Amino acid sequence: MRLIIEARVEGDQASSAATEAATTIAVVERQDRSVADLGLTLAEGRALLAEVQSVLVSHQAAGWMADQLTCCCCGSVLAHKDSRSIVMRTVFGKVEMQSPRLWACSCGAKQGEPRRSVSPLSKVLPQRVTPELEYLQAKWAAHLPYQQATKLLQEVLPLDQGISFGSTRRRILAVGHALDAQIERNIVSSPKPEQGDHVRESTRVGCVSVDSAWLSFSSTPKNRKAARDLAELKSPWTKKITQERHVNIVAGRATFTDRTPHLYAYVHKQVPSAAARLDQFLHTSGVGPNERVTVISDDAGEFGKAVQNSGLARGRILDWFHIAMKFKAAENSVFGSAVIEPLQRDSVTTEIEHAKWLVWHGNVGKSVARIKALDALLMASKGYEFSTLWWNLRRLSCYIHNNNGTLVNYGARYHKGLPISSSIAESAVNLVVSHRMAKKQQMRWTDEGAHCLVQVRVAVLNGEFSVEGLAELTKMACANSSRLRQAA
Ligand SMILES: [Zn+2]
Repeated sequence: MRLIIEARVEGDQASSAATEAATTIAVVERQDRSVADLGLTLAEGRALLAEVQSVLVSHQAAGWMADQLTCCCCGSVLAHKDSRSIVMRTVFGKVEMQSPRLWACSCGAKQGEPRRSVSPLSKVLPQRVTPELEYLQAKWAAHLPYQQATKLLQEVLPLDQGISFGSTRRRILAVGHALDAQIERNIVSSPKPEQGDHVRESTRVGCVSVDSAWLSFSSTPKNRKAARDLAELKSPWTKKITQERHVNIVAGRATFTDRTPHLYAYVHKQVPSAAARLDQFLHTSGVGPNERVTVISDDAGEFGKAVQNSGLARGRILDWFHIAMKFKAAENSVFGSAVIEPLQRDSVTTEIEHAKWLVWHGNVGKSVARIKALDALLMASKGYEFSTLWWNLRRLSCYIHNNNGTLVNYGARYHKGLPISSSIAESAVNLVVSHRMAKKQQMRWTDEGAHCLVQVRVAVLNGEFSVEGLAELTKMACANSSRLRQAA
């Protein structure tokens, strides 16, 4: 048996010939009275879709062109100059279209000006890719490595020649830049934070926590090649070149009382102001100009400045998890220590515990004093100085002392039901960064590449990435670039 699929166009006034004849799109042959090879194969389905797309696009283009053959001012027919083909990339394949060039009408031209030609179709389709394909490429590249995302789409859609690893990467860069520009526009247009007595703690946002991650930096292709060559030679310098620097990504997450968490992320070097980014994020998360939020983070230095300069963040507190870990390290070294008598161990551990609870209740000064007193007492023990315990106690008291400004009464916060740990920020970093860009996958990133990808990934994870939104963004980016071209 043979299944013949035909296409017939109706009601297209532009091409009357097509109304009658039907074009064969596909012929599917199967063995008679057999259920072997049941249904269409993926390859047949792909070919069918590509063929249908090509028929539809060519009719649409021809129909549209029929209306462009006369001058829009005086109505006279425009002379045909020549025809070129343009390639449009769609989700159902690469479609070639004839784009005629016409001589522009002389009615609007000034005396002595050379004759101009116009290509209406090329002009109306400045982006040679449909928003849907752009959306699919960007969305899947936000979830999977570029190579895998490209292969996935090529496998299920008739896109063999339509997309490539390079185009997927370029797409992410373009979409990421467009999303980034939108955030920067938002920063300019969002209302300024208010000052005064009516400022209150935000009620809608449960907790905002921020953390950072480091990715391996990818240098230029030339440097990469040099590194590979050195690696082949097993040179001792290889390590130095590849571990030169890292890409620092900041990721944060806001949790709400009534909806799913909201994420944001950026590469530190790619944003003009980290504080403005934080404010924009808080603003889009629903923090009003008269509201404030407390941010929880670890003690990474560069983020502290962002909070200081932020208008909507009231302040930053060090998360309890990191503090507890430091105390744990000190307690562990008591057990392993050979310089302390077994009978003395319990009392030393208890002292450290007490110091920890002093921090928990916000008595930082007392806690530091207690650790220092313990340190002084242990000095009497032989071999204590420069032991692991000695180091850990010093590190602990320095850590608490240096972070004094960001320590609060954790006990009181805890009893009020307020968050005290940034573990949810670490999960935000995992969600945004690790699952897609992790070091485990041996990936290397440039600042720009990583920044653009996280913009897309955050938009996808926040559920704010759509075909319509992307079409709007691309239109805006196109208008901006043509405005820039005209200005230049
Ligand atoms: Zn005219």
